[in-house]
Amino acid sequence: MAKKLKIVFASSEIAPFSKTGGLADVLSALPKALARVGHDVKIITPFYRQTKKANLDIKKFSKKVFVQLGDRVIEGDIATTKLAENLEVLFVVKDEYYDRDDLYQTPQGDFRDNAERFIFFSKAILSTLEELELKADILHLHDWQTGLVSALLKNIEINNPFFSKTRTVFTIHNLAFQGLFWHYDMHMTNLPWEVFTPEGIEFYGKMNLLKSGLVYSDILTTVSQKYSLEIQTPEYGCGLEGVLVKRSKDLYGIMNGVDEEEWNPLKDTFISNRYSVNDLRGKIECKKNLIQEFKLNLDPGRPLIGMISRLTDQKGLDILSEAIAPILAENAGFILLGRGEEKYHRFFQELQAKYPQQVGLKLDFDIPLSHKIEAGCDFLMMPSRFEPCGLNQIYSLKYGTVPIVRATGGLDDSIENFDPKTLQGNGFKFKDYSAEALLAKTKEALEIYRNSSLFKEIIKNGMKDDLSWEKSARRYEEVYNRALKK
Ligand code: ADP
Repeated sequence: MAKKLKIVFASSEIAPFSKTGGLADVLSALPKALARVGHDVKIITPFYRQTKKANLDIKKFSKKVFVQLGDRVIEGDIATTKLAENLEVLFVVKDEYYDRDDLYQTPQGDFRDNAERFIFFSKAILSTLEELELKADILHLHDWQTGLVSALLKNIEINNPFFSKTRTVFTIHNLAFQGLFWHYDMHMTNLPWEVFTPEGIEFYGKMNLLKSGLVYSDILTTVSQKYSLEIQTPEYGCGLEGVLVKRSKDLYGIMNGVDEEEWNPLKDTFISNRYSVNDLRGKIECKKNLIQEFKLNLDPGRPLIGMISRLTDQKGLDILSEAIAPILAENAGFILLGRGEEKYHRFFQELQAKYPQQVGLKLDFDIPLSHKIEAGCDFLMMPSRFEPCGLNQIYSLKYGTVPIVRATGGLDDSIENFDPKTLQGNGFKFKDYSAEALLAKTKEALEIYRNSSLFKEIIKNGMKDDLSWEKSARRYEEVYNRALKK
């Protein structure tokens, strides 16, 4: 191993304590991978109602944090548990902010005090480090909820010797979520107004917490090579492409991996039968089980397409909505697990009512079911408009479920279109963001499905891919060492 580092992760989500998406999975797996190779790793995260419900062994510390928000001082508690051997998680406990049914929003919209909730969290991260005398070499921050930390370090804490050796790495998991708030919220940061400029954290008159991470962190990373290039263009840059071009020398794309403790068809306790690349019989049983669970009338010899997703525009649901009827006309089954925008809930409810024998639907967040879908389907659909990394397609590869994806971000990096001549490739990939391209590619995939020996080749190619976190963790080590040279 290279030099042993003190690494502190800070994130608004970490599985199994809290989760709305891929961020939580990464924040559980990457710290574990780094701790395994001998680094001293800790994680700081809020203590939510979800965390309480997870019913894990969490102890409240006698220590407290006192956070200055404007001219108020807000008190919080610190709690702790172990995520793995040598891996401690520190929770910032403040029920007034985090003891709610959801993490960021209700179906009616974002919580109105999100600025306060995550300015508090960002400041509490630094207070926790000081209170517990944790001098980190690397403070690894994730997404807008922790973006402010870098601005605080480079401005308010600039002369604080406690942080003088700490370097920041900021990872963009999704550039579309920026933590944009009106400038009246600036006072809670206690930052000088000089940082409220286009070169700092201002974004068209608003305060942009993600931008704070982009501007003030020592190193930036994002979760695939392709996305690191895409976000430097107007099409994918969400208005921040200029900032990212400016910082392109410090920006690295590192693909996420698969946490094999969570996602492994040989060990998965959520699925009805276990299987491996050498013996796929269990997968067929999982498929029958899934068909039964959704009460579909589908011959198990017919193709079954699954989707597990936040139901938002990002995920390509508009083009899928157009293409789904002709896909069903190919006599395929379709199962969707997801939650999100009302318009998509309605669309898929109507679809399910129209095709009750072919379409299974669960509008919920259901982790055990997500495993059953990964195991029981033949295909996984991800026609995303943009996708920083995407995790379900790499879980699918592990489960012998063939991804049908649009060539964007991490989907483009992880999926190679199958070529029946060379037998190379682990999935199906289309370029244009259109219902036509999605439909044509799905038809091609269904055609190959009919040739079972050919289809097995794709399954094997995917299941043999190296998707381990170890590979990605080594790249993060390199990036940390670059940050330390700053
Ligand atoms: P994003 O982070 O944009 O939502 P990713 O593909 O990176 O997308 O990660 C999504 C993660 O959330 C995966 O682990 C996926 O299985 C999980 N997930 C998404 N929707 C659901 C759901 N409705 N129920 C259970 N898990 C879900």
